[in-house]
Amino acid sequence: MKILEINHCNKKFGENEVLKDISLSVSEGQVVSIIGPSGSGKSTLLRCATLLETMDGGDLIYLGDYAAKADPQGKSVYASKQDLQGIKQHFGLVFQNFNLFPHYTVLKNITEPPILIGKRPKEEVYAEARVLLEKMGLADKEKAYPYQLSGGQQQRVSIARALAMKPKILFFDEPTSALDPELTGEILQVIKELAAEHMTMVIVTHEMSFARDVSNHIIFMDGGVIVEEGEPDQIINHPQQERTKAFLHRFQ
Ligand code: ADP
Ligand code: MG
Repeated sequence: MKILEINHCNKKFGENEVLKDISLSVSEGQVVSIIGPSGSGKSTLLRCATLLETMDGGDLIYLGDYAAKADPQGKSVYASKQDLQGIKQHFGLVFQNFNLFPHYTVLKNITEPPILIGKRPKEEVYAEARVLLEKMGLADKEKAYPYQLSGGQQQRVSIARALAMKPKILFFDEPTSALDPELTGEILQVIKELAAEHMTMVIVTHEMSFARDVSNHIIFMDGGVIVEEGEPDQIINHPQQERTKAFLHRFQ
């Protein structure tokens, strides 16, 4: 079942056309990876999809039971402004630089959004947060502050924080790019485990073999357009477009 559709998305910053007629869809349980050079518009696309930016043209359509209140037909989210916040809650975004609150403990970083935004009962949220911390191998870190953790641990906290909102889709924007190489593997492993649990994910990454192994679909972007997309093996091992070949060549 399709749960997100982006149709003909355009986005400009001033005169700079950053996204040009981008269309994609995400189905439940699917893992979509987005690859492409720096400046190609990948982060902007994720920010549009998660409503941190407003598209200048095109449609953003959320479908499924959670969106039914907004519109049973899964019409554009822009059509119903009052439901934006409600829909926003269903989409987690994990950033390159973790974006944890430095003055909150690990536990508070994870529990604040479901309590304040999700308006859920404290005890329930705390219990779930502890299960998530256990799952992330951080059971003993709930009272720690972000600065007391390694980059890999901080990123696992931010994944737990996103999961605490029970997202329908979890978006990752280069989740390992700020990490030392030896810490990259532990984050990729967490994401692989989420994929095995059929979590729906959209992942911007420069980890090509990871993208090939974990994804159902890979999108190669360059200069604000989708140059090529398809099955992981096709895109990573048998790209058709010259721009895709040139980009992938850098990783060999
Ligand atoms: P990527 O994530 O693929 O590296 P981005 O989406 O970050 O690409 O950026 C695409 C283009 O949009 C770049 O030229 C960047 O400078 C520009 N850009 C991104 N965010 C902003 C912003 N908030 N204001 C102005 N320009 C921006
Ligand atoms: Mg980016």
